Amino acid sequence: MKRRTVKLGLALALVFAAIPARPVFAQGDPAALKPGRDPKQAIDEEYTKKIKEYTTEPFFLSPLVDYMPASKTVPTPTATLGDIAGAPTKLPYSKEVYEYMRLLAKSSPRVKVFSIGTTEEGREMIAVAVASEALIAKLDVNKAALAKLADPRTINFNDAEADKIAATAAPVYYITGTIHSTEAGAPTALMELAYRLAVDESPYIKNIRDHVITLITPIVEVDGRDRTVDLFNWHVKHPNEVAPSLVYWGHYVAHDNNRDAMGMTLKLTQNVLNTYVGWKATVLHDLHESEAFLYDNTIGDGPYNAWLDPLLTNEWQMIGWNNVQEMTRFGMPGVYAHGDFDTWSPGYLMFIAATHNGISRLYETFGNGGTAETVDRTLSPAETERTWFKQNPPIPHVKWSLRNNNNYEQTGLLVSLAYVANNRHLFLENFYEKSKRSIMKPKVEGPAAYVFSANDPRLGSQADLLRVLQKQAVEISRATAPFSVTMPVKRAAGGGGRSGRGAGAPEGGAPTTETREFPAGSYIVRMDQPYSRIADALLDYQYWSPNDPQKTPYDDTGWTFPEGFDVQVARVTDVKVLDAPMQRVTGEITAPGGVAGSGPVYAINGNGDNALATLRYRLKDADFQATEDAFDAAGAHFNRGSFIVRNVPSADLDKAAKELGIKVTALAAAPSVKMHPARAARIAILHTWSGTQTEGWWREAFDQLQIPYTYISTQDVAKDANLNAKYDVIVFPPAGGSGQSIIDGMPMWRNPMPWKNSPETPNIGTWAQTDDVRPGLGYTGLENLQNFVKRGGVMIGATNTADFTIQFGLANGVSSNGARRGEVVGTLLRTRMVDETSPIAYGVSDNLAVYSNSGESFGVSASRGGRGGGGGRFGGGGTARATGRGTQDDADQVQGFPQLDPQFLAPPRTPVQPWQYAPVTEDQLRNPLNIIPPDQRPRVILRYADQRDLLVSGLLDGGADIAQRPAVVDSPMEKGHVVLFAMNPVYRGETIGSYFLVFNTIMNFDNLNAGRKVDAR
Ligand SMILES: [Zn+2]
Repeated sequence: MKRRTVKLGLALALVFAAIPARPVFAQGDPAALKPGRDPKQAIDEEYTKKIKEYTTEPFFLSPLVDYMPASKTVPTPTATLGDIAGAPTKLPYSKEVYEYMRLLAKSSPRVKVFSIGTTEEGREMIAVAVASEALIAKLDVNKAALAKLADPRTINFNDAEADKIAATAAPVYYITGTIHSTEAGAPTALMELAYRLAVDESPYIKNIRDHVITLITPIVEVDGRDRTVDLFNWHVKHPNEVAPSLVYWGHYVAHDNNRDAMGMTLKLTQNVLNTYVGWKATVLHDLHESEAFLYDNTIGDGPYNAWLDPLLTNEWQMIGWNNVQEMTRFGMPGVYAHGDFDTWSPGYLMFIAATHNGISRLYETFGNGGTAETVDRTLSPAETERTWFKQNPPIPHVKWSLRNNNNYEQTGLLVSLAYVANNRHLFLENFYEKSKRSIMKPKVEGPAAYVFSANDPRLGSQADLLRVLQKQAVEISRATAPFSVTMPVKRAAGGGGRSGRGAGAPEGGAPTTETREFPAGSYIVRMDQPYSRIADALLDYQYWSPNDPQKTPYDDTGWTFPEGFDVQVARVTDVKVLDAPMQRVTGEITAPGGVAGSGPVYAINGNGDNALATLRYRLKDADFQATEDAFDAAGAHFNRGSFIVRNVPSADLDKAAKELGIKVTALAAAPSVKMHPARAARIAILHTWSGTQTEGWWREAFDQLQIPYTYISTQDVAKDANLNAKYDVIVFPPAGGSGQSIIDGMPMWRNPMPWKNSPETPNIGTWAQTDDVRPGLGYTGLENLQNFVKRGGVMIGATNTADFTIQFGLANGVSSNGARRGEVVGTLLRTRMVDETSPIAYGVSDNLAVYSNSGESFGVSASRGGRGGGGGRFGGGGTARATGRGTQDDADQVQGFPQLDPQFLAPPRTPVQPWQYAPVTEDQLRNPLNIIPPDQRPRVILRYADQRDLLVSGLLDGGADIAQRPAVVDSPMEKGHVVLFAMNPVYRGETIGSYFLVFNTIMNFDNLNAGRKVDAR
């Protein structure tokens, strides 16, 4: 840790040294504009008095917020709140916040409110623009000017013209509040900030208003905000009871809503991105509240994301350190700019700006965890120690109020707005220059383009990935004729990388480049476009060195989208690719689909595209059969697991297939290949009341693909002794916590904690309710689950819920194996196919990349309680010999004893691989109590790759604990099955390529034994 600190310190000194050398643009003398009220403007005495009353110490105030300017025409937040912003009794609902913002807009020509979309639950999101009357009147003109800087192609890269625009245009500074629902202070802070910016006549504020357009989305996670206020109000009405925690924030996920800026699956991310890009904003500043007292974590810590322009990372330092400096000058303690947070993953909301040529910023201020009340807070020594970057640290024991929080948020924002106002010419120049450098990418650092071949076997997944790029505002073109490019020769062995990974030096004197042909219809993502950086960051590989001084990555270390989506993408550095005949794509990209040929039977190739599952459910009443072998028909090849569809009107099938991008071939007769029904199984998605975040991504995926399910809790399972009557498959996505905590739930002492829609809590959804969140699955629930499986049901578990099934006897012969801490941190790992005849594997590629949070894997055994094959040190029947004389393959020799007669030597063992179980021995069969009957033994579908091929993207330190071990296992139990995933196959909209393992399990739930080879004994 020490080494890292020293290194960063030096880096910082260099940055500081560089700053004065930059040209300073003369724009009056901004330094002369001292913060503080204009004595000529009256203040709102009552409001000002309350600010001082609710602020717990004078040093938690600043000259920017220690008074409230008065206006005869514009109402303060009191008009809506009934008290001032940051009062200890009030957290406003979104409706109240919007009402106030619209009141402001009505009473001031300096404010305008825009609707920017809705949430998953239909609540509105808004953006509030505040600037001088003159700027507000010419928003469109200003936007047109900014658009030229955002896309230098439109002015033919004319630097002189850009400079002229930068000298006169007003940058847009976009502020977003309360994406994290338990971090509840921003809405009131932003209401008051909007008022101040509109009303205050002090030169400091006027300077901001005249030169910067402040754009505010006061609430990002609106669904979660309204539920937070519900819970706070419940707490106020039930002061002596324990309140339930916020089980659901948004409709799908909790704090992971701030990890969606890659996959773009959530409405809030899409709405903010469209606003940011649409306004051609320069800054996106996201407000959080989990550190004392103000941590500008934009600067954070290394490693920084490798695809960003260094011009940006230097801007972080400039704005951030100015921020720390000015607030320190005000005497406010605990303002700093380094700390825990590496800037590697581009998944955070603020990163929308970083990957779209703007400036990303993030504050952690201090919050009280979703209450408006003033609370005594004691900080840990780690939070309050003085370090080189925290010379004026937070103080150890404080009374902390919502008002304090609002003071810090507003002061930091005003200081930053003033800095951007004063340096607007510089920041707009940089905005232009970063945009220009993004367009220059092909000729400077490369690559020139990414190419998606029209020959990809998974065109549906390809379209899914291209649509993510479209949501990211990336331009996509399509080849109108075949073309070829020069590519580096791929490494011969192993890998199976999909984006030219491992394109190192080939062996011997072989050529280092080759020509690759792409057919017409291939998609090309050109890198000579303004938003090339986000495409490059998503499509490229990530390498996090095990030796990186940063030992605690803040989030995932790898995300390579082509791998996660299982789509072939070529990273092309040959600039000739840009001359290929192509057209810009307009409109949403879909895969080609529809019925071709004629005949009463339809064949659909099983290629693992998720739309196949959508089709199965859309045509619920049609007869779908899955083929147990590959076949050829009508001149085409069909994989094992292809669909044969009957009893459906051709027009219906054609319509659905066109919409979903699925190619259907009509045949005169069904092929003569073994097949079994692929049913539209009745699905339950099971959740606990303790952790609903990670399972939310599964619901999101099922909803997106229109795969219907019933959403049930562990408490519902406890009450239902006949689950088979309702469901065929129970999907239990990762829920967090131990197996025992799934059984136990929460402590039953104190009061019941309802999570229920009621007049007191009107925003809690009716889609998941309980009178008391505390009880868990219980042992009755466990028995119900066991019976469900024994009677023929299928249960799916992943990571901790897979461990739960192992721990509680639902998965005979399977054990779980955790990797060494830090070995894997949100990494993409390579798998290998073990049993392609299993229906779970239908259409799934060998070499599939999967997302592993921390390197979990399984072991399998033919005996109950066994620890698996060759992997474990003393594993049942491993082939590794004990320490002794000779080489690894030699026999040991006891000293002082004659060479053993061959009759005393064990018969040679069959080698057992880490993904296999050892064959049952004669010894074991003599009294086979614990020997699992052959048809009930675990069946391994996928395993992790060999250690040298294991890493796809991100951090892998070693990997010996993971390599070759089972990753997906089908464990029969009497008539049913438990299917276990060591990794998370459905995650953040980033693992489209592994979803189908889950859908296969569902559609083949009553035929999972297809293709199974049962042991002889
Ligand atoms: Zn947060």
